[in-house]
Amino acid sequence: MKRLELRDLRKSFGALEVLAGISLHVAAGEFVSILGPSGAGKSTLFQLLTGAIRGEGEMRFDGAPLDGARFAFMPQRDALMPWRRIIDNATLGLEVQGMKRSEARERVAPLFAEFGLAGFERAWPAELSGGMRQRAALLRTVVQQRDMLLLDEPFGALDALTRAAMQRWLETIWRSHRWTALLITHDVREAVLLSDRIYVLSERPARIVREVAVPLPRPRTESAEP
Ligand code: ADP
Ligand code: MG
Repeated sequence: MKRLELRDLRKSFGALEVLAGISLHVAAGEFVSILGPSGAGKSTLFQLLTGAIRGEGEMRFDGAPLDGARFAFMPQRDALMPWRRIIDNATLGLEVQGMKRSEARERVAPLFAEFGLAGFERAWPAELSGGMRQRAALLRTVVQQRDMLLLDEPFGALDALTRAAMQRWLETIWRSHRWTALLITHDVREAVLLSDRIYVLSERPARIVREVAVPLPRPRTESAEP
């Protein structure tokens, strides 16, 4: 069943044409990646989805006009607030939804072990490694229990070894949860490892030049912690 459907999405900033007609879909339980070069317009696409900016074209979710509240969004930058402890960063998305902090803490606490963050609940973001910070940001995103995850280059700023370990870790926890997700990346290996399907973007102005179904079974990997 198709959940998200985009038809001929277009966006320009003044004379700069960024998205030149993007059509794609994501089905329930599917992990789909958008693979494209830096500057192509990937983050702009997510801004359209979340309603942060407006463009042209059709965006539907479960057949109805899209409402940005469907998504739990992990932004490319500044995902964690440096002045909040890790536990209070993890609860942020739930608090925005109106949940009391105490209740939100009870919801997020059991996930700390699975995300390799047990014992770091009271730590500050600056005290964690880059990989741990990204796991904390991902934890905050998934606990929101929205219909779909939007992940904008979650591992893009990490060194190569940490990134590879994080990709294997995400692939492992993905198997047990089967969240519906749309991931933006410029890393071919990451897209192949994690995705059911991949849309390949051209350079700006972005259009989809290929759609690739990743053959199953996916590459087998050992789980690893960075
Ligand atoms: P990507 O995420 O694929 O690296 P972006 O979507 O961030 O690319 O940016 C695509 C292009 O759009 C870039 O040239 C960027 O400078 C431009 N751009 C993005 N947001 C704005 C904006 N608010 N105003 C003007 N130009 C923008
Ligand atoms: Mg980007």
